This record gives sequence, structure tokens and C-alpha cells, in this order.
Amino acid sequence: MTTLTLQPRPESPADPSVDHVIRAIVAGDSTAETCNTDLAEGPWNFDIRPGYGPGSSMGDVIPTGSPRQGELPQEYRDATDEELDARIIAAKATLGDRVVVLGHFYQREEVIRHADYVGDSFQLANAALEHPDAEAIVFCGVHFMAETADLLSQPRQAVILPNLAAGCSMADMADIDQVEECWEQLEDVYGDMDAVDGDGLVPVIPVTYMNSSAAIKGFVGRHGGIVCTSSNAQTVLEWAFERGRRVLFFPDQHLGRNTAKAMGVPLEQMPMWNPRKPLGGASVTEIEDARVILWHGFCSVHRRFTVEQIETARIEHLGVRVIVHPECPMAVVDAADEAGSTDYIRRAIEAATEPTTFAIGTEVNLVQRLAAANPQHEIFCLDPVVCPCSTMYRIHPGYLAWVLESLVAGAVVNRITVPADVADPARLALERMLAAKPPAAPASGWTNAS
Ligand code: SF4
Repeated sequence: MTTLTLQPRPESPADPSVDHVIRAIVAGDSTAETCNTDLAEGPWNFDIRPGYGPGSSMGDVIPTGSPRQGELPQEYRDATDEELDARIIAAKATLGDRVVVLGHFYQREEVIRHADYVGDSFQLANAALEHPDAEAIVFCGVHFMAETADLLSQPRQAVILPNLAAGCSMADMADIDQVEECWEQLEDVYGDMDAVDGDGLVPVIPVTYMNSSAAIKGFVGRHGGIVCTSSNAQTVLEWAFERGRRVLFFPDQHLGRNTAKAMGVPLEQMPMWNPRKPLGGASVTEIEDARVILWHGFCSVHRRFTVEQIETARIEHLGVRVIVHPECPMAVVDAADEAGSTDYIRRAIEAATEPTTFAIGTEVNLVQRLAAANPQHEIFCLDPVVCPCSTMYRIHPGYLAWVLESLVAGAVVNRITVPADVADPARLALERMLAAKPPAAPASGWTNAS
């Protein structure tokens, strides 16, 4: 297995499986708490229900146009964990170099153990580039990640999302029609969006987080904008401020606010754009004075973290080092010791030379795996309730076995394809990001002085 990043150590005594923890809770063998006992079921039981299913994003609205997963064949639903493991291993062995399996940091352990690469969404899309001869790229993540892999891969390569119901509620909060409408309203305030002022700046540069649909990346590309990741958001905002008076930031308000605040942008110059209100709910003056307009989006997983959890961790674990993801609300980032991307968190833990207690504010599957892989440290999730990303959790080994065995049989199922009219400008926005900061540069985060 090629490891871009972390893999659990086989000799580790700890069980990194969140699924095992949830099943133990449901069976009454654990006193821990989960946000939804339905998580112990096979995802095919709730793929057909409206909404995102049990887990962190269960309360979020799922767009009507989202892809729907067809019924998983019964043989995969009935198979035991051991049978699915054996079938996945056998299918991968048969396919050999014809397939690459990518696993996101937040993916469940039972799937990650079959991944050729493990990383964040952009690392994984780049990992696929190292296999130009592979016929299929099986992306065990969520929909926008598979779209990004399709944008960056060869046209003859099929990018496969094992369960089409694995969307991302945050990405879905920036709907392309609402974004186009927002742009028109901003044009009414700012005038010609291509006109430069005396400083050579256009009125606004759109910036989208990697966690957005290809349609949004395409919009950004068409309007002189750029994509960012949680690792390079500050570099990308600097790029945007060299070209525009303001930034329109999609879809995660928290990443936008936390990054801009760390760069010294005053909060009063960061109005929020609520697409359901005229002018986003802001006044004309607020829009005119804005430096960063924040789209009204958020990650339901990272929104669960609170200042109270950090205070409790500090009381119960003297000397604890608190690191949170910048998708967390601003108050949580301010209360933590450090904030940074998933890769930053992983590197920070691996770089600690002395045994350390870490309280981590990001998705529990990654935290469990980090804890298992680094037994010299005490590592726990800030949120005491076991509540994984519900959409990532849709990728069950049953779906992975199904897509791989379909490939063995000569059938490509669940292919994700971005249409050319969207793909071309979306690639442009990604290329601008690569030019602003090459992906090989180290992941950055920030440390709070307090
Ligand atoms: S953790 Fe949040 S941003 Fe990431 S896939 Fe899940 S809902 Fe989307």
C-alpha cells in the first residue's frame, strides 16, 4: 500500500473503528453516547430516505437535484464484515493496477484499510494523477471530491463514487442558481464587475473552498476567481486581494471568517450572505464596505465543537493541547491552542516528541485513527458524542465490494462525470490555486497566543 499520509499501525493495540464503537453503544456494551443509533445499520437502510441520514448532517436540507443511490444488490447487504473484506481484497488483486482506491481522512476504518492512498480531498485527487494508466479511480469520499478527481484525471479514466448518496451538506449549501443570483445582486451595487479601480482592483473576486460542487468551481473560474483548501486559504485570500477590492467566499463561512480574521480583516467588514434574503440580508452600505462576503454555509460536523468542550478538556486534562479544524466556529478556533487543516493536525501530532495529551476538533474517524497510530500520545475527540460525518459514512464496505466486483465483471457503476462546459472553468480555478501555492508546500495552520 502506498501511503500519502497516515495508516494505522498493525501492531497498535487500539481499535480505530468508529463503527465498532457505535455498535457497542447500540448493544449496550459501551457507556459512550452516539448522536444516532441508526448509524449502526447498513447505510442502504436510509439511502432512500429524504435528507442526509443519521449523523452530524442529518438536520441539513438535501437539494432536490442531488444524486440518488440505487438499491445495493442483496448479496452485499447480507454479507458479513469478513466476507466483504475478503471480496474486496480478491477484487483488488484481480484488478491490480487497473484500479486505484482513494480513502478520505474521515472515511470509516473498514473502508480505509483497503485504500491505496489516504489523505484530504486535494491530496487524493493528486494521488490519482500518479496513476494515469489506471482505468478506474474509486473515490471513497463524498461527491465533490469525486468531481475534483474527475476534473484532474484523464478523460478515459472512470472516477467512481461507491455510494451516490455520499454528498456533502456543506458543499450543497452553495447552490449554483443562488450563487448566480448573488452575483447579479452584487453587480447592482458594484457596477461593472470587470472594471478596475485606480488601484488596479476589480470590485470582487470569488473564492471557493475545495468543498464545493464542480458547478461552483466553474462559476469561480469564469469570474476570475480561485479555489482554496483549508491548508492554503490564507495564501489564496492574499492572491485574491492582489486582484480585487473584496472577496466573495463560498461555501464555508467559518473557514472564510477564521482565515480573514487571522489576516487582520475586521469582523464588521465580513457580512454574511444568506441566499434566502434580498442582498443576502445585508445593507447596501455593508456590502459596499465589505472586505470578505461570507456565504451562509457550514460543516455540520465541525459545528458540533464548542468552547465549553475545550474548557472541560482543559479542566479534565491538565496541559492538554487543543487543535481544531478551521471549519469550526470562530469562538472555538479562538479558544483552541491551534487551528489547522486535517494534514496540519496529523503533522502536529506526529511532530510531538514528548508524550502529549491532544484534544482534537475534527471528524471522529480521523481522531480515532490518529489515536491508534500514535499510542505514545493520549488523543481524543473534543466532542464526547460519537457522531461521524453522516455522508462520508455512507461508503460502507458493501458498496466498495459492489463497485470493485462490477469492474471485475467489466461494468463501471456510479461513474462521476463533470460536463466539459463546467469542467474547463473549474480546472482554471484549480490551476490558479496551484499557481498561487504548489501542493508540495507544507500545510499551514495558526497558533493562538493565549
Ligand atoms: S465533514 Fe463536513 S465538509 Fe467534510 S464531507 Fe462531511 S459534511 Fe462535508
